[in-house]
Amino acid sequence: MKQIFHFRYPLTFCFLLITLLAGPQGCATNPVTGKQDFVLMSEADEINLGRKYHQQVTKEMPVYPDRKLAAYIEQVGQRMARVGDRPQLRFQFTLLDSKEVNAFALPGGYIYITRGLLAYLNSEAELAAVLGHEIGHVTARHSVRQQSAATVTGLAGAILQATTGVQGSSDLFNVAGKAVLSGYGREHELEADRLGARYLARAGYDPQAMIEVIGVLKNQELFEKQRAREEGREPRSYHGVFASHPKNDKRLQEVVGEAAHLKVSGKPRVAREGFLDYMDGLAFGDSEDNGVVLKGRFLHKPLDFGLNFPEDWKIENLPDRLITLAPQQKAYMEIRVEPLKDTLTPFRYLQQKGFKTLRNGRELTIAGQRAYTATTELNTKFGQRITRLTVLYADKHAYLFIGLSHEKTDQPRFDPLFQKIARSFHRLSAKEKQLASGLHIKLITASPGIRFSTLARQSPIPKYAEAQLRLLNNLFPDGEPVAGQRLKIVR
Ligand SMILES: [Zn+2]
Repeated sequence: MKQIFHFRYPLTFCFLLITLLAGPQGCATNPVTGKQDFVLMSEADEINLGRKYHQQVTKEMPVYPDRKLAAYIEQVGQRMARVGDRPQLRFQFTLLDSKEVNAFALPGGYIYITRGLLAYLNSEAELAAVLGHEIGHVTARHSVRQQSAATVTGLAGAILQATTGVQGSSDLFNVAGKAVLSGYGREHELEADRLGARYLARAGYDPQAMIEVIGVLKNQELFEKQRAREEGREPRSYHGVFASHPKNDKRLQEVVGEAAHLKVSGKPRVAREGFLDYMDGLAFGDSEDNGVVLKGRFLHKPLDFGLNFPEDWKIENLPDRLITLAPQQKAYMEIRVEPLKDTLTPFRYLQQKGFKTLRNGRELTIAGQRAYTATTELNTKFGQRITRLTVLYADKHAYLFIGLSHEKTDQPRFDPLFQKIARSFHRLSAKEKQLASGLHIKLITASPGIRFSTLARQSPIPKYAEAQLRLLNNLFPDGEPVAGQRLKIVR
């Protein structure tokens, strides 16, 4: 949660923002196929479009503040771009400060990887494979129309629609939805894999790193499916194109295998140890700037506030708001923060936000701060719902709490909880401030006999610690550390 509003990309391995619709129609020679493509824009237009989107991306998504790491990624990326099919194009690689597992490309050579994805990689060759795949999309001038709003599922989607009128802009909805990749998408993905493998070989890496890295994403997907099942929701999809594990995928094996004859002589570059050195200290999960989710609570250091939730409620920290869901999505609450511009009373504030008819309103004080609570009726996809609204003023910010239940009849049961959550607003204690600093990756050397179950018990990772540690070290779903092996843990 930030004070400014962000938009977010769907959670796919690479989601191309290239829109052919944006460019003029014409013919251009495709640098990979050498054929004339009918609907390609000129290179100058492509670069201009990319630059425009790049400004938007970096405005909306923070860049990870580590220059050394950024320089390393740029160096690996350039090594791959140099041997690509458009070496004259100026590629630029950006590490984004997001916990989401994602990488994507913009037209004109702008490539992005999130720290969320970086954390799960275990060698420079794997990093090169991710970047090579994205370079492949750019060199092949793949273009997909921006996916129409992804299917929004569940209660979260419904409430978002219901409250659109409240906040106006709302590009974020697809975060709750499932990204859908068409067959057309699969062809492009395979081609990007093929090109990426080719560049890996030319740059001196083993092209098999492509299969390795798709395996990393496949494991994320398997883990996500497992989690979704336990949490009773739709899984989000990643690379999303391989039904079977990449190690068993024949077509993928074929396209990557084609690069084998390009292998440079001598031992291919893997650079596991050198890569791992860079991982030491990398932020993991939520970052201090955006607020940290822990079991049953949310802590935000920059704004100096904490909230408590029932322990079995799921908390999702989105760029523009915090959402929390009761088990089986029986109730939903969202919390937004915005700077107070005018000297409105809390009551007037709610009215100005579009909540015209307020019932049972009353003023109250929460942690010494002025607040107001009332109910209103909202139109949701499930029909009319009585909704609990609370607004609280603190440090020239308004905190808006919106809570409603899925079933009409559940409202009386959940209403006291909605109010309790709002009343839990408090300043951070010294201990909470420490917790609000977020988690970081730490490198250790595995001692003999150490098991992930033990490491998980000592881990501050709030949920699924054992699976998370395996994923971080590419030992999912049931691998164990080997004595002497360097391991990523979380502190
Ligand atoms: Zn891709």
